[in-house]
Amino acid sequence: MAPVLTEAETITCSHQGTVVAKIHSRALVVAGAAVLTKADLQEARIDGCKPPPSVPPCASVLTIDDGVSGKLFRGGDDPVLLVNAKGTTNSGTWQAVGPGQTKLEAQ
Ligand SMILES: [Zn+2]
Repeated sequence: MAPVLTEAETITCSHQGTVVAKIHSRALVVAGAAVLTKADLQEARIDGCKPPPSVPPCASVLTIDDGVSGKLFRGGDDPVLLVNAKGTTNSGTWQAVGPGQTKLEAQ
């Protein structure tokens, strides 16, 4: 079990850019914050990436490799993400960095 990921979390790329979730539905809410799903972060935009010289900036999420619930879904088929969610961008990696809610957990 791990806490689910919500819009209250900060999600950044490996160069401190911010991943901007596209929230498709607020059907699942914890403490007033929408729970994020795989669809919400698929191809999500990344703002403010400041990579080292010679590395192109991150523009969007490429893959979601970890932290996808196998048990909790929104709308029947869209898996909820957990706080250990991470993956790759077009030019690096991304991950959730907190602060982390603890009211709702899933596996
Ligand atoms: Zn980046």
